Amino acid sequence: MTAPAPADLLIRAAAVHTLVPGEPPRRAVAVTGGRIAALSPAPDGLDGLIGPDTEVVDAPGSTVLPAFDDTHAHLVLAGHSVHGVPVHRARDLAGFLGLIRERAARTPAGEWIHTTVNWQEVLLAEQRMPTVGELDAVTTEHPVLVRRGAYNMVLNSAALRLAGIDESTEAPPGGVIERDEHGRPTGRLVNRAVELVERVLPRPTLAERIEGLRAASAAFAATGIGTVRDCLVPVEDLDVLDAARAGGALAVRVRALVSGFAARTPEQVDALLDRMDDWRAAGRDDDRLRLWGVKFGIDGGFEAGAVEEPYQDQPCYHGRLLWEPAALLAAVDRVVERGWRVGVHAWGDRGLRVLLDVFERVLKRRPGLPPGTLVVEHGGLARPGQRARAVALGIPVTVQHPLLHDGALTQQRAWGEERTAALFPLREWLDEGALIAGGSDFPVGPYGAMVSVWGMTTRDTTAGVVGPEHAIGRAEAVALHTVNAARLTGESAVRGSLRPGAFADLTVWPANPLDCPVDALRELRPTRTVVDGRTTHRS
Ligand SMILES: [Zn+2]
Repeated sequence: MTAPAPADLLIRAAAVHTLVPGEPPRRAVAVTGGRIAALSPAPDGLDGLIGPDTEVVDAPGSTVLPAFDDTHAHLVLAGHSVHGVPVHRARDLAGFLGLIRERAARTPAGEWIHTTVNWQEVLLAEQRMPTVGELDAVTTEHPVLVRRGAYNMVLNSAALRLAGIDESTEAPPGGVIERDEHGRPTGRLVNRAVELVERVLPRPTLAERIEGLRAASAAFAATGIGTVRDCLVPVEDLDVLDAARAGGALAVRVRALVSGFAARTPEQVDALLDRMDDWRAAGRDDDRLRLWGVKFGIDGGFEAGAVEEPYQDQPCYHGRLLWEPAALLAAVDRVVERGWRVGVHAWGDRGLRVLLDVFERVLKRRPGLPPGTLVVEHGGLARPGQRARAVALGIPVTVQHPLLHDGALTQQRAWGEERTAALFPLREWLDEGALIAGGSDFPVGPYGAMVSVWGMTTRDTTAGVVGPEHAIGRAEAVALHTVNAARLTGESAVRGSLRPGAFADLTVWPANPLDCPVDALRELRPTRTVVDGRTTHRS
């Protein structure tokens, strides 16, 4: 018998919750070579693994959990946004504009100024976006791009000029250039109109992109997240993620869904898949960065999700379906035929119904498809009949309370209170046997391991508590981000629970997230996050 290798890291804690079914909490965990080496019910039970280079963490009051997954977020977008003017901290427009003024004061004239994208105008005191006039009052020396999420922008006049947008500019199909009563652009661009600006923005260098991803992934790690499933990676950005990985800049594991939003024809889908095949053939996947599949969207979000009953106060408006079902069927079928997985955004009940029709036909055509090949992203307004179908078809669903948290007011205006409260029926999904996994949808919702657990257990939102009957328990909420998330990505053998041989992806919490006061849960941050045996965050 050879002696076991000494541990790289040994943690003694009040409780190590392995999340292995039926297993009582442990008191010590040892990590060697990026894997869990051993667990012990006694705090000193692994002391035999201590060698000269072992880092020993004595945390007798702490709780250890697996690192969390965010199964639906936008890390690439966060990397673009992270060095922007932090307008998400503003509470009113004066504060919002003040932050931009501050940045302008130390930015050379002529250089673009852009904001972070993770904010909501309904959460500002004035409940609206800034106007072009207000932005011009801040600076005429700099083009200013105020951006919210991916599809909403407000520009100042200097930026409008650089983007070539004036009275005579036509928006691309599906895009909106908002105009005042004289036909002049107000500075507001929606949906595909943002492309008019994107094409004139100075392109960040590769080094800037990598630094953006380093900062953004470190911020995820600081909240206890070890893996981000990025649900909208432009295919050309795979190279950027690759370079970030090579430079040691990814503090989280990444599971990438390549954006299929621009792929509308079979030829375009094939071209996308060709590039993904090249990635696969070159063996560029590893445990840190893995290409998961393709992302499509069948309907819009808060203000364009496709619903069966009309929008509140708009008797003729039922939201937007972005695909003809037959065309989406052909696209999804092509993706799975070539051995890739598909996640499709569905928000309203009509969107989800039509998507399940499509998925059902794909499964009928291809009965041997591995489970988890087809995933519903959000499935926000999931009615009983649709839940039953998703469960019967074995289709997993990613759910995001933080999205509901930030969007509840906006959603209530569009759909009314009842439908807003019916979003994300987690209690029902679990009771009915669905595989659901937790995420944030950052930049729309805030990310963070425990802010999500807090939200799923309280159903608290910016509009107050909505649909409390859909709340789930804390242990269930933790499982959505760990055990279930690993099942969703097909990695249960190595991630999601702490067992010998599994990846050493874990978090150390200064209080027990399973029974600390509920208000503390919301702000609870880990003292340490470990991924692949390496500490990615420490406080
Ligand atoms: Zn998303």
